[in-house]
Amino acid sequence: METQKIAVFPGSFDPFTNGHVDLVRRALPLFDHIMVAIGINGEKKGMFPAQVRQKSIQELYEGNARITVDVFDTLTADYCRRIGAKFILRGLRSAADWEYEQGIALVNKQLQPEIETVFLAADPALSCVSSSVVRDLLRHQAGISAFVPSVVEQTIREYFPCKA
Ligand code: ADP
Repeated sequence: METQKIAVFPGSFDPFTNGHVDLVRRALPLFDHIMVAIGINGEKKGMFPAQVRQKSIQELYEGNARITVDVFDTLTADYCRRIGAKFILRGLRSAADWEYEQGIALVNKQLQPEIETVFLAADPALSCVSSSVVRDLLRHQAGISAFVPSVVEQTIREYFPCKA
């Protein structure tokens, strides 16, 4: 694996949306392997347990040996070093995303200079899609099928029957 180009795609993925799917699809030709890594943040509990998020993303990419799904609770840079990844994949939907992402990328560079953050611009048609929009729709019992892959919607229905 060491000589392979491994990218970590870190995020909350609470839940995984069509925006995330598009990013992974477009990043696949750039890397040998993409590790979708669900970051556990002690301060942010999230709507779905990490294992539920992981299961839904694993089902989505079942059969694709170049995509793995993991959960981590360390600094992203430390996680990358541990698994031998030299790239961090992130998406940019707006200038606000860039402001936020730039700071994180600079800190990661400081921590692990050999790791590059690679940004892909969001597909304009999907730039309005975010996990927080999906969570808001769920709280108001609105449909989410336009924003998440059907496997993810199915997992949400199993976990949260009255909300999906
Ligand atoms: P985080 O809490 O770390 O921001 P998210 O799950 O919200 O985690 O997002 C993970 C990554 O996916 C971020 O880089 C974010 O900018 C990107 N992303 C989220 N939604 C979209 C989208 N619709 N199009 C492209 N990238 C996206």
